[in-house]
Amino acid sequence: MRVVVLLGAPGAGKGTQAPLLATRIGIPVVATGDLFRAAVRDGTPLGLEARRYMDAGQLVPDDITVRLLLDRLGRPDADDGVILDGFPRTGVQARALDSALADRDSSVCAAVLVEVPAEELVRRMSGRWVCRAAGHPYHEVSSPPRSPGVCDLDGSELYQRADDRPETIRARMAQQLGALGEVVDHYRASGVLRAVDGLQSIAAVASDIATAVAAAGLAPRASVAKPAAS
Ligand SMILES: [Zn+2]
Repeated sequence: MRVVVLLGAPGAGKGTQAPLLATRIGIPVVATGDLFRAAVRDGTPLGLEARRYMDAGQLVPDDITVRLLLDRLGRPDADDGVILDGFPRTGVQARALDSALADRDSSVCAAVLVEVPAEELVRRMSGRWVCRAAGHPYHEVSSPPRSPGVCDLDGSELYQRADDRPETIRARMAQQLGALGEVVDHYRASGVLRAVDGLQSIAAVASDIATAVAAAGLAPRASVAKPAAS
C-alpha cells in the first residue's frame, strides 16, 4: 500500500490539487474531515466515539482518527494506495501514522508540500468580502465587484467578516504554520519530503506534484494521457 501525504497551509491550493492527483495516479483521496462525517452519519462505533468529542467541542483524539484512517485503508479501493488530505496535522499525528502503517508493513512513500509564502497565504485568504443584504461573496483579487465596496447584484455595502480580516488570518496562520512545520520536519527527517512551488498556475503545480510522486514510484495511469471522450 502506497501512502502519499499532501501538505500545505490553508490557501495553498491543496484542496484543488488532491483530486487532480487522484485522477492522475488512480488512487483515492482520503480526507479525514470526510471520514469523521461519514462515520458519524453511519453511526459506527468509532463514529459514535468521535461524536462524543465533537459534541463537546473537543478535538477528536489522534488514536480515534488513526483507527478511522486504518479502517478506510482496508477498503478495496485503497488497495493501490491513498492520498491523505488533512492528516497528519501535527508531529505527534505523523508519528502515530508511521507506527500504524509500520504494523501493516507499510509507510508514507511521499509527503508533498505545496509551498506558498505566508504573506501570500494571508493575501489569498483575507481578500474575501460579502454584501450586507445577502452575503454575496467577492474577492479582492479573483472576483472583485464592478464598483469597489458595492454588491453587483443588489447594490448593498460590502464588508469583511472578522474571520476574513488580515489580522485575524495572520494570527490563525501563525498557529497553523507552526503545526505544519512539525509535520514537514518529520517527513524531511525520514527522507520522503518533496516541496513544490505553490505560486505557479494550478496546472504547473499539478504537474510538479505528479513528478514528485512519480519519483516515489507512483506513475500516472496510462489512460490519463488521452483526453477524456466527450
Ligand atoms: Zn449582494
